[in-house]
Amino acid sequence: MRYGALEAGGTKMVCAVIEENGTVLEKVSIPTEAPEKTMKAVAGWFADKEIAGFGVAAFGPICLDEKSPRYGYILETTKSEWKYYDLLQELRPLGVPIAVDTDVNGACLGEAVYGCAKGLSDVLYLTVGTGIGAGIVIGGRTVRGMLHPEAGHVRVMKRANDPLKSVCAYHENCVEGLASGSAIRARYGVPAAELTERGDVWELEADYLAQAIAGYICTVSPKKIILGGGVMHQEKLFPLIRTKVAEYLNGYLVTGELQDMEHYICPSALKDNQGILGCLALILQKIK
Ligand code: ADP
Ligand code: ZN
Repeated sequence: MRYGALEAGGTKMVCAVIEENGTVLEKVSIPTEAPEKTMKAVAGWFADKEIAGFGVAAFGPICLDEKSPRYGYILETTKSEWKYYDLLQELRPLGVPIAVDTDVNGACLGEAVYGCAKGLSDVLYLTVGTGIGAGIVIGGRTVRGMLHPEAGHVRVMKRANDPLKSVCAYHENCVEGLASGSAIRARYGVPAAELTERGDVWELEADYLAQAIAGYICTVSPKKIILGGGVMHQEKLFPLIRTKVAEYLNGYLVTGELQDMEHYICPSALKDNQGILGCLALILQKIK
């Protein structure tokens, strides 16, 4: 059996056909433009692929409540053309079952089923890119709840010497507002990749990320935390974050996982494929 996977992002739509065992047979990237045009192109690409089901991992906020008339609609996004757009309308005519989740939940499930958290039931995946978002898998299933996790917007304590005004339009002190790639750019005036040699930049960055992660550990109790996204290309962040997370937890939690921080907080293993493999895992869970 082959399945369709769509990782719907703000700049591109990654479309793939994948075998049940995780072998990626075909993969293309379609630029994200106006919703109708983009989704017609996506559906067109899948039309003759003979897929048995379809997994979608999309930017949010998106309605994941199957009982809601808005199921599969993009909700209050800043991408105004996409606000209240029914992401599934061009896909339903393919006539196969469709499973939908957020992009980060998809990536988290991909890592939990096929990647570096393979076999673990409780995993958190944090992406630190243009924005910050977390996917959460508990008991082998992605967390949805009332809407879905928006863990990039948890509060962190602002460092006294940090001059930045948060880049989040809603929160003065959220981790996305202070530690996303956009925040780094706003604070220093140049893209994060150009600040590689600046020790203070990564010390501050690791502090904000570690504050958020210590909160996630206390709330969610994941067995592994995977960090991805463009900013995490700065590999020096990993040891800094591990040390600071341990400092913030301050010995309160004693587990085998936390004693082995090197493996507990780790980079993603699937390179660019965690999203589409997560889509495969989503549709397989739905069908079986
Ligand atoms: P997006 O979040 O838009 O899907 P990415 O995960 O690639 O995309 O993240 C893009 C962000 O990562 C940008 O803010 C960019 O400045 C930052 N970034 C990309 N490469 C690096 C790098 N080598 N070091 C630090 N930051 C980087
Ligand atoms: Zn925010």
